[in-house]
Amino acid sequence: MLGLMQDRPLLISAILEHAARNHFGAKIVSARPDGSRVRHTWPQIAARAAQLAHALTKRGVSQGERIATLAWNEHRHLEVYYGVSSMGAVLHTVNPRLFAEQIGFILADAQDTHLFVDATLLKVAEGLTERLPPCLKTVVVLGTAAELPADSPLRARCEVIDHESLLAGQPERFDWPDLDERAASSLCYTSGTTGDPKGVLYSHRSTLLHAMAVVQPDCFNIRAVDVVMPVVPMFHVNAWGMPYAAGIAGCSMVLPGPRLDPASLFQLIEEEGVTGSAGVPTIWSALLQWLRADPTRKFARPPRLAVGGTALPTAVNAGFLKEYGIEILHAWGMTEVSPVGSTGARLPQNADWDEDRFLDYARKQGRPLFGVEMRVRDDKGQDIAHDGTAFGELEVRGPWVASAYFNRASDDAFTGDGWFRTGDVVTVDELGCIEIVDRAKDVIKSGGEWISSITLENVILGHPDVAQAAVIGIRHSKWDERPLLLVVPKEGRTPGAESILRFYEGKVAKWWIPDQVEFVDKLPMTATGKIWKAELKTQYRDRVAG
Ligand code: AMP
Repeated sequence: MLGLMQDRPLLISAILEHAARNHFGAKIVSARPDGSRVRHTWPQIAARAAQLAHALTKRGVSQGERIATLAWNEHRHLEVYYGVSSMGAVLHTVNPRLFAEQIGFILADAQDTHLFVDATLLKVAEGLTERLPPCLKTVVVLGTAAELPADSPLRARCEVIDHESLLAGQPERFDWPDLDERAASSLCYTSGTTGDPKGVLYSHRSTLLHAMAVVQPDCFNIRAVDVVMPVVPMFHVNAWGMPYAAGIAGCSMVLPGPRLDPASLFQLIEEEGVTGSAGVPTIWSALLQWLRADPTRKFARPPRLAVGGTALPTAVNAGFLKEYGIEILHAWGMTEVSPVGSTGARLPQNADWDEDRFLDYARKQGRPLFGVEMRVRDDKGQDIAHDGTAFGELEVRGPWVASAYFNRASDDAFTGDGWFRTGDVVTVDELGCIEIVDRAKDVIKSGGEWISSITLENVILGHPDVAQAAVIGIRHSKWDERPLLLVVPKEGRTPGAESILRFYEGKVAKWWIPDQVEFVDKLPMTATGKIWKAELKTQYRDRVAG
């Protein structure tokens, strides 16, 4: 027997209508590149999203058609987010930090017809001219198209118009279609540090369920009175769902634009009363160092921070908590999981742990949100013991987990029995908390045992002279592989190899301690701000440990 409840579809347009109708008092503040700010309300965002949908409809954009963006976090990007998906087309956010070759591949794979480009990224767009797929006929400038030179090859290649002209004169209401909630709403490509990037195609349903989950207290904890600032870019897995979560909660939002340096972020937090923000560890680590450089730099009201994308160094977590009274929520996720899968919120079993004990525990990636199921299997396909030491590959399933890649007939990541193989090697402890030991392809195999490169990196980041660190496996005649530690020292510091390696003593098993350390000026980074291990492995391909 079926229940007798209304079957309204879960649609992105419903978020927009809800926010506009019920949360007209909230503000969407966008920071411009010159430091000035522009303010909108949810009803204004909704009106402009409707105008955009009218303009695109008149241009023949149909349901399911892909519309790309190369843009920072600001209100026009938000309007494109809501307008494109709500009308039934597919929002395809592209990371402007990718190489031109990768962007070209992605645009062609997605078959985008329109590209919305932030005026500050026109150079990137120009560099793509030769690589734009034939179906891409229009570039819409978020800002003024006049900033693109009259003789730009991009103008010869396609129509270039600006966003405001596109919107001008269009009606401010759109009769949003009653789509199937399983219809595609947005598309995001994995970073593709090895092999070609793969497209993850989200649906309205998956986006809403994920957004409702991240609003919850044990995730981003967003209420209508909050002012949230997604520092994580809107091109990086939909800014972890925050643009949608903010609409559901009806809160205010601060969109920081392209300036993500610590001083600009601090100013926004203070002047706009930001209560919560989310970003990758490098952002918060840079903010912490900047704050420490001047004792007068203190928050009037410390915001809550969420971090994910790579492991949260305990030293950063401890610094914020002990010196600035800021709690950081450590989350795990990936593009294929919309992205959030787990968080490290407290449980009754560890609610009374003291600060230091919990800080040490918070390096782990937490427990699944409701809606995400996890299983961890060893290389023989057996479920591992939940003892915090056995490890295996994490598999997930749930209504916001990908079931296939866009445009690909099959992929080994999908098990065939409904689970997605994450490629993350994890342990699970007695409380059900996962800890990422490594990416399956980065784990170091020494004498038949596994060494976690991530643990070695996390430990050494606690050394007072270390700014950045990476550990990779290099060849060894007896042990197959041994860890090599690469260290970027803090400015003005020149630590010795011995002091660095001695720092590991008592913190990891003796045989895990790297045999060699190499000091470097910088580490190669991926477009999503992670250390590019594949590139490092190529660089040190011929290095032998012994
Ligand atoms: P992406 O799809 O680019 O967001 O990358 C997803 C991958 O980032 C995951 O599979 C993990 O390997 C890594 N990752 C995400 N969050 C964390 C975290 N909190 N700690 C360690 N690694 C993480």
